[in-house]
Amino acid sequence: MKRIVRTEGAHLVDETGELILDAISSWWVITHGHRHPPIMQAIRDATEAYGQIIFAEYTHEPAEALASGLIEIAPPGLAHVFYSDSGSTCVEVALKMALGFFHNSGTPRRRIVVMEHGYHGDTIGTMSTGERGVFNAAYEPLLFGVDRLPFPAPGKEQDTLDAFEGFCRTGQVAALLIEPLVLGAGGMKMYPATVLSELKRIAERHDSLLIADEVMTGWGRTGTMFACSQAALTPDILCTSKGLTGGALPLAATLCTAAIFDAHLSTDRSRTFFHSSSYTANPIACAAALANLEVWKNEPVGARVDALSAMQEARLAPLQNNRHFADVRRTGTIVALDLDVPGGGYLADVGPRLRAFFRQKNLLIRPLGNIIYLMPPYCVTATELDCAYAAIEEAAQRVAEGTV
Ligand SMILES: *Cc1c(COP(=O)(O)O)cnc(C)c1O
Repeated sequence: MKRIVRTEGAHLVDETGELILDAISSWWVITHGHRHPPIMQAIRDATEAYGQIIFAEYTHEPAEALASGLIEIAPPGLAHVFYSDSGSTCVEVALKMALGFFHNSGTPRRRIVVMEHGYHGDTIGTMSTGERGVFNAAYEPLLFGVDRLPFPAPGKEQDTLDAFEGFCRTGQVAALLIEPLVLGAGGMKMYPATVLSELKRIAERHDSLLIADEVMTGWGRTGTMFACSQAALTPDILCTSKGLTGGALPLAATLCTAAIFDAHLSTDRSRTFFHSSSYTANPIACAAALANLEVWKNEPVGARVDALSAMQEARLAPLQNNRHFADVRRTGTIVALDLDVPGGGYLADVGPRLRAFFRQKNLLIRPLGNIIYLMPPYCVTATELDCAYAAIEEAAQRVAEGTV
């Protein structure tokens, strides 16, 4: 364990004053950099007026302004915002919205379709929809069943589409819940936008909903504000959290279409969308998110994302033919390198050894088993990236030699 006493830009500072490069954005939440000044200032200002306020029957400016701001930047057609406080919760909310939509429309549907290797959170509901394995084996008796699509690996895309079409033909599919373009915790697995748009077309044909879990992919990570826009599609429900406040405070939002909102809007209270969290729409967190929206408007964030993507590509390209890596890939600012070792998988014992190696070099890089990935904040410099890549190459070499 290292005790951190301060954070700044792309770095953590430990108690001995060492700078640690945060190459994974503190588990994917920090977008612009740690303690991005306008966001921290907005938090300070908000505390002059607000703490927590109940968000039923009462409302406040930060929540209202943020909702309008989110609708403005979201894929067109998303018209309503429901606040919660974590990625897992906003996905739970999405699942409930989907089931509620069909229930209230008088045509109940009960199946949720997901993608193999998906990850959607750690609550019972979201664990049910994620890949099953060592993380959730102990809780298996509590998990509900879902239908799983094979991952659309290169050349196997049609199998994924056919499987989805097959599930949809039962007429029971309420929604496809999917991480657009990049499956994060499942191993930074990447697939093309064309598969996503085909899946949406199939869903539409069968009146099933598409839930985009953009908790990780949102806020520029894949090169665009939301990954969905690369497939030129509007999901029926969109989940966002991690980068929503630039990573400063916990907050989440589930956005939905007017049709889903309207299905729950009634004087008949049994049709209510029943979900309440104590800290729904915390005003300070909303103020932080609002400041984040301003940062996206006022600073050249898009250009920073493009520059980072290009820097990543330039360093990744020479590694395409490096024999230590079975696969190297990139979507937007995210890169992943699969170390070619026998017995991969998340529990591959090379994982902790790599982590220790990087930690000793003051690099925060936490491989998913044998999969090394970089997802830095957008303020990272070329020199800092060079450092990270040099360490990755050295690690790969030393794993091959058996000295890491
Ligand atoms: C991290 C993540 C979640 C869960 O978010 P928490 O805030 O950790 O609950 C859900 N979906 C995806 C795609 C994620 O990457």
